[in-house]
Amino acid sequence: MKINIKSLVRPNIRNLTAYSSKEIPCRVKLDANESPYGFDITDEILKSIKTNRYPDPEAKTLKKIIAKNLRLNPENILFGNGSDELIYYLTTVFGGPVLYPVPTFSMYGIISQALGEKRIEVPLDDEFDLDTDRILYLIKKEKPGIVFLSSPNNPTGNCFSADRILKIVESTSLVVIDEAYQPFSSEKGFLPMLNDYKNLAILRTLSKIGFAGLRIGFLIAGKEIINEVNKVRLPFNLNSISQAVATELLKNPNTIKLHIGLITSERERLLNELWKTRGIKPYPSEANFILFKVKNSDKISLGLLKKSVLVRDMKGVVNGCLRVTVGTKKENNIFIKALKEVMK
Ligand code: PMP
Repeated sequence: MKINIKSLVRPNIRNLTAYSSKEIPCRVKLDANESPYGFDITDEILKSIKTNRYPDPEAKTLKKIIAKNLRLNPENILFGNGSDELIYYLTTVFGGPVLYPVPTFSMYGIISQALGEKRIEVPLDDEFDLDTDRILYLIKKEKPGIVFLSSPNNPTGNCFSADRILKIVESTSLVVIDEAYQPFSSEKGFLPMLNDYKNLAILRTLSKIGFAGLRIGFLIAGKEIINEVNKVRLPFNLNSISQAVATELLKNPNTIKLHIGLITSERERLLNELWKTRGIKPYPSEANFILFKVKNSDKISLGLLKKSVLVRDMKGVVNGCLRVTVGTKKENNIFIKALKEVMK
């Protein structure tokens, strides 16, 4: 019997395109908003892991350390295998329609579609800020189950105005502020507001500060939200190696702070260099990457790749733009030199 597997698949999944994250070999990798600084894992940490036992389902030790570092109560934290997983859980629990501004992080849309939820995409204004009038109108009309706001926003790099965010929080059901890039921002973020708004939840991740390979994201919210999301969390979603390594490395937050300082000062230097380069319009950034507009973006990104420098072409998201992750000083210099050569 001939079976057409596609015909067995739910229509919303059939039409879905998988998140693309190709491994392209290169000398300087500046495409995925990772930290250029990694950490060594000692034998001692590895030896402490029991491969035949399930991990701590609550990741209690790691939770305690993160709570202490961020001055939170551990009961307000829930881990995901990356914050991606938590976006899945949140959308599963609170349902659609799912509203988010565009351009933004693609997973809000991909996950909504995977779960068969209606997506409401609201274009950002000319300053890449939230179009509050439109959003508030759509909230009233469509009654979204969840609103995702990435601030700082990926890929534009800016924080949305705090007063606009608060207007949205005050007008709808669940608002998730995705603060994946908050450690690089000069703004203070929304953790201090959590007590004031019961419908506010915040996403954070360790991926951008040197731990992308460990896949550790966390949700910070009131206990009621945490309890509901915890119902759909797969047991043991944070593996033993990630828990042990992060627990050990987070005991020394000063090294991480140092790396963040290096990245933010390099970001400003890179921004300056881009400003000085004819034919390039960079956008200011509160994150660990910079979005810039350039003529013939296709050709430029290909030209960079020929010189083994990998950046992200934002075609289809912000046309004519490339996004470069801030690397080490040496990597940034190689990028700038290559860019200037390719521009010629
Ligand atoms: N949110 C935003 C805004 C992101 O840019 C990313 C990573 N690209 C994520 C969440 C996902 O992070 P994680 O590695 O924790 O899944």
